[in-house]
Amino acid sequence: MFDVTMGSYDGAETCELIGAYMLSLITNRFKDRLGLYRDDGIAVCKDKPRQNEKTKQEVARVFKSNGLKITIDANKKIVNFLDVTFDLTNGSYKPYTKPNNKLLYVHKQSNHPPTTLKNIPKNVNQRLSSISSSENIFNESITPYQKALDESGYNHELKHEPQQRQQTHKKNRKRNITWYNPPWNSNMKTNLGRKFLNVVDKCFTKTHPLYKIFNRHTLKLSYSCMPNMKTIIVSHNKKIISESNKTTTQQPEKNCNCRKKPDCPLEGNCLQTNIIYQASVTSDTTTETYVGLASSFKERYRNHQASFRHSHKCNETELSKHIWKLKDANKPYHVKWKILKKCKPYDNIRKKCQLCLFEKFIIIYKRELCSLNKRNELANSCPHRKKHVLKNFIN
Ligand SMILES: [Zn+2]
Ligand SMILES: [Zn+2]
Repeated sequence: MFDVTMGSYDGAETCELIGAYMLSLITNRFKDRLGLYRDDGIAVCKDKPRQNEKTKQEVARVFKSNGLKITIDANKKIVNFLDVTFDLTNGSYKPYTKPNNKLLYVHKQSNHPPTTLKNIPKNVNQRLSSISSSENIFNESITPYQKALDESGYNHELKHEPQQRQQTHKKNRKRNITWYNPPWNSNMKTNLGRKFLNVVDKCFTKTHPLYKIFNRHTLKLSYSCMPNMKTIIVSHNKKIISESNKTTTQQPEKNCNCRKKPDCPLEGNCLQTNIIYQASVTSDTTTETYVGLASSFKERYRNHQASFRHSHKCNETELSKHIWKLKDANKPYHVKWKILKKCKPYDNIRKKCQLCLFEKFIIIYKRELCSLNKRNELANSCPHRKKHVLKNFIN
């Protein structure tokens, strides 16, 4: 379908974007009685079965012409959609779980922030109430949910609470809230929340010039979670494996392969990998800086040099654009290269790319280090992730 890996960061967004577009193509056939959640859609038609079959084929054709596949079940009176069963014969709806789906909630004694734990039974109760059309239906279908809640140690009896229309509360002034998210650990005895607010009160008194920006209403605390058992075990294993790898493949490392050592761009360290580098271009009037990342610096350096030499490559990077501007004006210039940081590239366990993150950090916060970089580089997605996509492992 489209080139987005399942479970990737932008997967849901891409799905929603394409979904919205497809909806716009077919929506007038259903008089707006049509809904879509990610890749699951539902529509209501009052036409005759034969007409519905025709509509079905038409929709399938629209999808096909856009290179997409769709499976449609038409002419159903009772349908399971997400976690709800809709019944058109009597207009009722009730909770639905897939037959082999085991309900499992976070255990009450689990090391989670108290507000999270407190709200789990409440949320389950609310969700079940809102997807049951009557109290009877609610009571009929809660047994597995009640059992799962009991097994997770909650002392909560599920009760039908009819949905109340939320009153449109008066408009609140929008505040810029700065969140502090310390990790929660129930072994800690200190009341961190109170300490934090005390610090806020103490440091920003009402007469403080910054009181308007930093006060109890704009600084808030919300706990985050500690890594779970899986993450701890994975990182432990990774550490042991990488150490044993190190001892087996110990070779004297070469740092530079330049033919003339004095010409090495990084003073004898040009064979570095996974680094953030900085190039400063000095001409007689200006000094401009450029920050980039490189999996292999030498390779990147060669590409940069080529883009300085060949005029058809002059638009390759912001750096080469600048160099060509100087060249066209016949100004002499000098480029100096420097390593800013060595970072870990993307790995499929942590799911983070320190390399890309650090480059973006510099572009946002250290403008003085990268005067040539454009902010639109921030939108680039991590190119190092592609290496780990399953499709690259299949020949
Ligand atoms: Zn070198
Ligand atoms: Zn990356």
